[in-house]
Amino acid sequence: MNERALLRLTDVSRTFRMRRGLFAPPAPLHAVNGVSLDLYRGQSLGLVGESGCGKSTLARILVGLLAPSSGSMEFDGLPVQDRTALYGRVQMVFQDPFSSLNPRMRVGTSVGEPLAIRGMAGAQLRERVAESFRLVGLAAEQMRLFPHEFSGGQRQRIAVARALITRPDVLVCDEPVSALDASVQAQVLNLLREVQENFGPSLLFISHALAVVAFMCTRIAVMYQGRIVELATRDELFQQAAHPYSQALIEAMPSHSRTRGLPPVLPGEPPNPLHPPAGCAFHPRCAKAMPVCRENAPELTELDGGRLARCHLY
Ligand code: SF4
Repeated sequence: MNERALLRLTDVSRTFRMRRGLFAPPAPLHAVNGVSLDLYRGQSLGLVGESGCGKSTLARILVGLLAPSSGSMEFDGLPVQDRTALYGRVQMVFQDPFSSLNPRMRVGTSVGEPLAIRGMAGAQLRERVAESFRLVGLAAEQMRLFPHEFSGGQRQRIAVARALITRPDVLVCDEPVSALDASVQAQVLNLLREVQENFGPSLLFISHALAVVAFMCTRIAVMYQGRIVELATRDELFQQAAHPYSQALIEAMPSHSRTRGLPPVLPGEPPNPLHPPAGCAFHPRCAKAMPVCRENAPELTELDGGRLARCHLY
């Protein structure tokens, strides 16, 4: 793709210092490890992986809530030095809509807050809040209510309204339906898809559920233990996943998880990130592991058609 990326991460890592025991010295935990990703204007990019793989840490880096330990980030061709460069242009929808809204604040005030902070007030602000409410299928009169007066699905609509009010270029959604009842998940997913198609923000959609990511996104990055292990179009991934971890994720999708977004059941457990295995981090769970996999970590390699995979098989 010759077009310039709207959001570009280059070799981004984030390390935390964690204690392994009461008397043990802190050890490094590489939550995100050398991730490079491009997000293009109007594109929907999914990030999928099991819980603890680093995808939420990556989301927080992308919206400027967390600084990377190393690597660089560009937005619209310019280096991002601090969060102010992204303010209002990259917005986030969190997993739990209740904790992302102030329970003592009328929802209209919460939704308008990102603009009020920048000095907008009065009738202009009220009109923008009403517009955002209508966009997510809520009545403008509901702005006077408090969060507890809404259902979980409506609260997530309010969180989406708050994210959209700045008319962002990028919407980062971190597990936006996993705290909702199965019956309302589809409504919120359809809403996000409509918003993306009709109003055009680029979408970075993060989930542990491959079925949900596949419903939302045309390109999918698969993450394992802090690293991208495969990056492909949705069709490439489902027709012929290259990486054994991607293959396992697809094989672990029973028919009911495709529709309900339940977590996949994979063989074995992810390794302790404080004691990652040598070589390929997936080798203790990989049916195709070879001797080289236990010693050398594979690099991300370009396959036919521009897809990427991190595996010694290629
Ligand atoms: Fe499996 Fe080896 Fe590929 Fe890792 S590098 S996914 S262990 S085949």
